[in-house]
Amino acid sequence: MIQDFFRKDLSDFESYNAGKTDYKVRLNANESFDNLGEAVRREIGKVIENSIYNRYPDADALEVCELYSLYANVNKTNVMAGNGSDECIQIIAHTFLNTGEKVAMQSPDFSMYGLYTKVAGGIPIEFPLSDELELDVQGFISMANREKVKIVFLSNPNNPTGNIIKREDIISIIEGCKCIVVIDEAYFEFYGQSILDKIDTYDNLIVLRTCSKIGLAAIRIGFMITNNVLMLELKKVKPPYNVNAITQSITSVILKNPEIINNNVKNIIVERSYLWEKLSNIDGLRLYKAEANFILVEVPNAIKVKKRLIEESINVRSFSTGPLKNCLRITIGSRQENDSLLTNLI
Ligand SMILES: *Cc1c(COP(=O)(O)O)cnc(C)c1O
Repeated sequence: MIQDFFRKDLSDFESYNAGKTDYKVRLNANESFDNLGEAVRREIGKVIENSIYNRYPDADALEVCELYSLYANVNKTNVMAGNGSDECIQIIAHTFLNTGEKVAMQSPDFSMYGLYTKVAGGIPIEFPLSDELELDVQGFISMANREKVKIVFLSNPNNPTGNIIKREDIISIIEGCKCIVVIDEAYFEFYGQSILDKIDTYDNLIVLRTCSKIGLAAIRIGFMITNNVLMLELKKVKPPYNVNAITQSITSVILKNPEIINNNVKNIIVERSYLWEKLSNIDGLRLYKAEANFILVEVPNAIKVKKRLIEESINVRSFSTGPLKNCLRITIGSRQENDSLLTNLI
């Protein structure tokens, strides 16, 4: 039987289902609500017209890494580009894990940490957050060392909770956990604090970044930033040519004009304040800290609310079981999108 060749440990896996995308108001995937402006899209059009299609792209996306190093204020040799930061997570798992080795993460946190751990043959160890969705830092460090985990993955701000791990706590985790510590700063631009300045202080720190939340989800570009020793090891596993030429060109155009990103982020933060303010005036909702480009809110009956929103072609992320039961994760939209959400929420 052909199934005899399949991996037994993948038997209960399901393919990722991103769901229907043709909703009028899409507040479910933490994308930026604004497309790039017309002028920059025209500039990109010219770059695409002049692209070289018959040759492989730069295998290490050197120009993009250099521009990102200027954006992030790090050394260019400390930056690796990935096909989204998703690919970076996968490269990390495959670089450090042998079959049966463990990886620690919060629960809830970004689901791809567990997925790529398992695909690499590892075992995810989930550490539950408190009822307030906060992390018991000392408890987490003890667990990681007791379980002898190889890697720790933490998103900060946390997706989907929005919760923050304070800088001194991140440092305690990096110093306390005897393993690779990956801090995923996918929402850095909306929070403003980073641990990037410590990549050369610690031999076990890797920081992840992405352009998906700041207006470039379509082109798949993410980064990992770490010290030279870990970088050499990660490069052994990185697929060559993993970032295609068109993505490299478009990313370069944007990173040469960082005000495009900054303006986009500013607009999203203005709308975040607006939506927060409006939501906090509605009785019966519980709002969680919002330092990213989404707001997690507990409603009396998430299934009912979600159904009503879908009828109006408004999509949000909902959770029907587990610690986030009755919570909605609402991506910040444009003023008009936020208003139609608010009108239909209650
Ligand atoms: C969205 C997200 C990512 C994935 O980003 P891509 O670059 O689009 O792959 C990674 N980590 C977290 C926490 C995210 O929310």
